[in-house]
Amino acid sequence: MYYNLMFILFCITASCTMKEKADLVIINGKVLTIDKDNPISEAIAVRGETITAVGTTEEISRMVDDRLTKIIDAGGRLVIPGFNDAHVHFGPLDPDYIELRYTTDPSLITQKVKARVARSKPGELIKGGHWEHEMFNDRKWPSKELIDKVSPDNPVVLSRADGHSVLVNSYVLRMSGITKDTGDPFGGEIQKDPVTGEPTGILKESAENLVKTGAVKTERTPAEEAERTWQGYLLALKEAREFGVTSIQIPGSADFSAYERLRDEGLLTSRIDIGRSLTDDSSRLKEYLALGKKYPREGNWIRFGYLKAFIDGTIGSGTALMFEPFNDNPATSGLAMMPYEEFEKMVVAADKYGFQIGVHSIGDKGNNWTLNAFEKAIEVNGRRDSRHRDEHAQTLLLSDIPRFAQLGVIASMQPTHCISDKKFCEKRIGAERSGGAYAWKSLLDAGASLAFGTDYQVEPLNPMEGLYAAVTRKDRLGEEGEGWFPGEKLSMEEALRYYTLGPAYAQFMEARKGILKKGYLADIVITDKDLLTIPEDQIMKTKVDYTIAGGKVVYSSGR
Ligand SMILES: [Zn+2]
Repeated sequence: MYYNLMFILFCITASCTMKEKADLVIINGKVLTIDKDNPISEAIAVRGETITAVGTTEEISRMVDDRLTKIIDAGGRLVIPGFNDAHVHFGPLDPDYIELRYTTDPSLITQKVKARVARSKPGELIKGGHWEHEMFNDRKWPSKELIDKVSPDNPVVLSRADGHSVLVNSYVLRMSGITKDTGDPFGGEIQKDPVTGEPTGILKESAENLVKTGAVKTERTPAEEAERTWQGYLLALKEAREFGVTSIQIPGSADFSAYERLRDEGLLTSRIDIGRSLTDDSSRLKEYLALGKKYPREGNWIRFGYLKAFIDGTIGSGTALMFEPFNDNPATSGLAMMPYEEFEKMVVAADKYGFQIGVHSIGDKGNNWTLNAFEKAIEVNGRRDSRHRDEHAQTLLLSDIPRFAQLGVIASMQPTHCISDKKFCEKRIGAERSGGAYAWKSLLDAGASLAFGTDYQVEPLNPMEGLYAAVTRKDRLGEEGEGWFPGEKLSMEEALRYYTLGPAYAQFMEARKGILKKGYLADIVITDKDLLTIPEDQIMKTKVDYTIAGGKVVYSSGR
C-alpha cells in the first residue's frame, strides 16, 4: 500500500514537471516586466506561444529539458516586452531603394550606388536616401563627386533623411538643365561650389522640383511585379524584427491577403492590425463588420483594427486646424478636412456599430472637434468600452487634456514627431500654444491612456528614437540643456510602458500582450545596453540582440 502510494505520488510529480518543461528559457537577465505586481525579475520560461513562468534564474532553470529547451543566457542584459508600434504605415518596401540611414562614412554611399548600378540597365533610375550629413564623420554636405564616377549612365537621386534636400549626380543635373548659371527657384536652393560656382548636386526644398531624370522605364511582367512586392514585404518584416517590433498597428487600409500568405508560409514575424476608413455608409459599415468577423479581436496575428479619419493636416505645412491663426502666417488657422457636422455624423454612426475609431488630429481645434465627436457618440449611443483613439493628439487646449481620461479616449502619440517638429513648432504656433504640444506627461498626469508609435515612414521605425524623444525632448544630435518643455519628459520606464502595454491596451489586448507575465504572449526583446541606466546619448545607439515573437526567436544579432 505504502509503495503504491509512493509510486502514484512519483507519477504525479513526474508528469507535473514534464508539463512544466519549457521550449525556451531566458536566464540571467534584467527582466523589466512592465507588470506592476512584479516589476523586475531575472528569467522567463516559454512554452509554445506563451510565457509559462517569470522568476529567478534558479526557478526557471528547473524547467529546462536538456534535449528540448533552447536556452538564452542574457548575461545581465535588459529583457523587455516586444515593441508594439501603435501607428505605423507599414507595407512592402522597394527592394531596390538604397537605404542610407545612419551612414557615418560617406564612401559607403559610393559603394552602395556602385553595387546598384551593376544590377541596372543604363538609364534606369537609382533611388535611395535617409542620409544625414550631420552624422557623417566630417559633417559635410555630400556632393555629386561621391557618386558620379560610379554612375555615368544612370540617373541617381538620394534624398536626405528629412526629405527636404536631395543629392543627385551629374547625369540628373544634365537632364534637368541645371548649370552654374541656373538661379535658385523661389523657396529653394541649388547649392553651388563657392570656388567654381558649379552645382554641387545638392538641391534643397523647391529646387527638388527641377529634377528631371530622363529615366528609362523598367519593364516588368505582372509576375515580376508581384514577386517584387512580395520581396518588399519580406524586407519590411526583416526591418521590424531587427528593431524588436513584434506588433504593428496600421492606420487605415492594407492588404489582408498578403499578411495571410506570409502567416501561412511561416514568414509573419510581427503581429498586424489593419483597419479601414471611417464612413457613415451603412453598407460599407456592414462590410467592415464582416471583415471584423473574419479577423476578430480575439485573434493574435492578423486582426481588424479601427476606422481611421483625418480631421486636419500638419503643423509643418500650416494645415493643422487651430482656433487662432498661425503666428508666422496670420492669414490662416489651418484646414478642416470636412465640416464638423459631417464628421460627427460619421463618428456617431460607426460608434453605433461598435467600431473603434481613430482620428488624425493635429491642431488644437482639430483635437477639440475629435473629442467633441467622441463625446457626442457617448451621448447618443451610450457609454461603452470603445477606446476611441486620438491619433497624434499633437496640439491641445490645456482644458482638453483632462477630457481624454473622462471620455476614455486614447492618446496615440509619436514621440519623434516632437523632436523633428520642435524646430519650427514654436515659430508657427508660439510659445504659449506649444505648452499644449506633444504633452504626453500632462496627459498621463490627467489619467489618459497613452500608446506610442512612430508614424513610419514619416519617421524611422526604430523604437529607440521614440524612447530617446520621450525622455529627452532634444533633437537627435543631442543639445545642451533640459530639452524642449522639459516638464513633459517621461522616465525611461514610463516610455517603455507606452511602447508595449500602452499600445496593447489601445488594441484591446492588454490581458494577453504587452507585459512579461505567466499566460501572456511570448513577445520579448533583449537589448545590448541597459536602457534604464545608460546616459541619454546612448539610447539611440542601443541595438536589439534578440527578438522573440510568439515564443520563436525571429532575430538574433549574434552578440
Ligand atoms: Zn500617420
